[in-house]
Amino acid sequence: MNIVADFHNFFFNLFYTNFKLFNYQFDEDKKEIHLFLEPKDNYPQCPICKNHNVVVHEYRHRIVKDGSYNGFQFILHITYRTLVLPRICG
Ligand SMILES: [Zn+2]
Repeated sequence: MNIVADFHNFFFNLFYTNFKLFNYQFDEDKKEIHLFLEPKDNYPQCPICKNHNVVVHEYRHRIVKDGSYNGFQFILHITYRTLVLPRICG
């Protein structure tokens, strides 16, 4: 059984549609579950015209406290992109 894959399929596709889980960490002492997310698609799209003619400007990181489950706090480590859109859309 592949726990990460199951988690990905049944949980992330529901709540974090545009991201995939690339790592996770359980901290028993702090009662924290750390989830490391990055964009799911390798080829980013323009959110307006859906064209792939966009350039990644930079990658940014954000740490977000999410909900808790069974006394464990979920903490999301999100890598996301900012894009330069084609002139016609931006
Ligand atoms: Zn566009």
